[in-house]
Amino acid sequence: MRKPKIVVLGAGYGGLMTVTRLQKALGQDEADIVLVNKNDYHYETTWLHEASAGTLHHDRVRYDIDSVINRSKVEFIRAEVQDIKTDEKKVILNTGEIDYDYLVFALGGESETFGIQGLKEYAFTISNVNAARQIREHIDYQFATYAMETEKKDERLAIVVGGAGFTGIEFLGELVNRVPELCREYDIDYSKVRIYCVEAAPMVLPGFDPELVQYAVALLEKKGVEFKIGTAIKEATPEGIKVAKGEEEMQEIKAGTVVWAAGVRGNAVIEKAGIDNMRGRVKVNLNLTAPGHDNIFVLGDSSLMINEEINRPYPPTAQIAMQQGEVCARNLVKLVKGGEGELETFKPDIKGTVCSLGDDDAIGVVFGKKVTGTKASFMKKMVDNRALLMIGGPSLVLKKGKFNLL
Ligand code: FAD
Ligand code: NAD
Repeated sequence: MRKPKIVVLGAGYGGLMTVTRLQKALGQDEADIVLVNKNDYHYETTWLHEASAGTLHHDRVRYDIDSVINRSKVEFIRAEVQDIKTDEKKVILNTGEIDYDYLVFALGGESETFGIQGLKEYAFTISNVNAARQIREHIDYQFATYAMETEKKDERLAIVVGGAGFTGIEFLGELVNRVPELCREYDIDYSKVRIYCVEAAPMVLPGFDPELVQYAVALLEKKGVEFKIGTAIKEATPEGIKVAKGEEEMQEIKAGTVVWAAGVRGNAVIEKAGIDNMRGRVKVNLNLTAPGHDNIFVLGDSSLMINEEINRPYPPTAQIAMQQGEVCARNLVKLVKGGEGELETFKPDIKGTVCSLGDDDAIGVVFGKKVTGTKASFMKKMVDNRALLMIGGPSLVLKKGKFNLL
């Protein structure tokens, strides 16, 4: 009998959790497992703000996929996924095509620019290793150029962060530690640097615990961040951004660097494939399959699940993507082995949220308790190490883990 073929798209949190669980649970004679990813490495998306600010080298945030997969059980294809022909059970890659019996879609999300003019051209996004490297090098270049030019353009040193969600705040936490270092490297007076955070909602980290938000804002302000709250970015230009507060007139903020961290959407491949979606995200069935597609599982930032308690979608997080990977793998094993009964249903088990504020500070709610300062920072590093442990075991933690715990 022909073995079923499981194709997993994406070696992020959801994809790698699925593959590492499948390779343990299925024998070579039970299924063909194929993993497709555009790079031969996995990157810790949750650490990209550090690589972007330059507080952590980009090689620290990635590791070889080969170091966590068993090549005797998993075929790895390095390629870019372009489309899926669900009728023909085929995935179209930039290098050819591949057929499947079961498909796991875990290609992550994309930056959401809401059609705002100029963002794609003039703003950076913290979206992958190379994008992070580009942000770090761009900021470095602005400082180096400022140091060289005779007619100093102070706006060159201004950095705008669009969005005070978790990504924006974590990036600011790194920036306020990195920029003073850069100033020392280039003999620039720190008071010449402006770091703005522009947030459309009436508060920083909308929806998060107000006391913890106050802690974060006070710390970042003390280190030089200027918050512009209730102010929306309306346009990005070669000179900076245009913003508006309510009905007030549009204002310009001149800046040499603009980083857009104001939202994510699902993956465009889902839209192209014609699978029912809302901005690239599939409202999955409880067993994680796409409606109308019993053989396609959708995980991570490309999936959408409603938290019935508050009737709002769960925020897309690595925490959820990894938990989905485990359930998806168990469901695939059941399908392959022909186990009895229904597939397992997925319910997120949210253990907490910790937002770093640089290497040595953080805020968070963990198991319902508020934490701040070094204790929270310690917990954040533990969470980071746990992701490595879950996917690659203790050896990966030893190779890539964060041990500067306090
Ligand atoms: P990803 O982990 O993004 O992986 C997708 C993979 O697919 C990547 O390897 C990518 O290269 C590959 N890929 C994409 N498109 C293609 C294609 N067309 N062809 C081939 N391969 C492709 N969440 C938390 O829970 N805790 C945190 O502390 C946290 N911090 C964050 C910090 C930052 C700076 C950011 C940006 C996000 C953070 N998140 C955090 C959110 C979290 O990173 C995402 O929810 C998570 O990465 C989603 O996992 P995923 O498996 O869906 O996709
Ligand atoms: P987000 O959608 O959570 O936040 C984006 C912010 O940008 C919002 O506050 C929004 O009001 C603001 N915004 C939108 N349009 C704007 C505009 N035109 N001008 C100014 N502000 C605007 O996005 P994110 O912060 O990238 O987070 C994405 C996901 O990743 C979330 O689910 C988040 O929970 C997760 N994440 C988690 C952590 C963590 O747990 N430590 C860290 C980073 C990201």
